[in-house]
Amino acid sequence: MALLADYLEEQLPPARHAELTRHLETCSSCLAQLKTYRSTVSLLRSLREEDLPSDLRLMLSTFLNEHAVH
Ligand SMILES: [Zn+2]
Repeated sequence: MALLADYLEEQLPPARHAELTRHLETCSSCLAQLKTYRSTVSLLRSLREEDLPSDLRLMLSTFLNEHAVH
């Protein structure tokens, strides 16, 4: 599950999206991860039209999941 990717691509259900938006407003570490992810995605997309490596997607979504439960 690539939660962060889905969030950025606005593929989440509206309630889940709003929940994450609220969390990101108050959690600087998740926000930093989001920014890192976003810049990595745009870098990769400028190189080639492929998704991020699955392990990176998993790592980031796991990170956000662990935080978003607070
Ligand atoms: Zn967090």
